[in-house]
Amino acid sequence: VIKYALRCGAGHEFEGWFKNSAAFDTQADSSALSCPVCGLSEVTKAPMAPQIVRNAGLSAPPPAEVMKALKALRAAVIEKSEDVGATFAEEARKIHYDEAPARAIRGEATVEDARALLDEGIEVMPLPTLPEDRN
Ligand SMILES: [Zn+2]
Repeated sequence: VIKYALRCGAGHEFEGWFKNSAAFDTQADSSALSCPVCGLSEVTKAPMAPQIVRNAGLSAPPPAEVMKALKALRAAVIEKSEDVGATFAEEARKIHYDEAPARAIRGEATVEDARALLDEGIEVMPLPTLPEDRN
């Protein structure tokens, strides 16, 4: 069942329920529809602006859910990696060249460090920064 906002030829707006859009077309074509205010059978679908706005809002997840997903990702990375702090770039190279046991590590690296590591074929990924980290 679909709800349509309807408008008669005189500009009265009202609502109607239909089994489907074809049911509306059939009833409109056979003049079975009439305005409850003036009885005019010239009835058309009115633009449904509020409906469109609501649907557009649903296409993007609310910011709270994005934050939750980022927090979960960050927590998972932190839980499964070893904090090597400022020696991150050095440690990442050692692991890459088999000079240290293979494991996931995290730490601080400058943009230049990260770029150099990537150039050497070492996978690095920035942790998402959350607003609360800047407190
Ligand atoms: Zn009317």
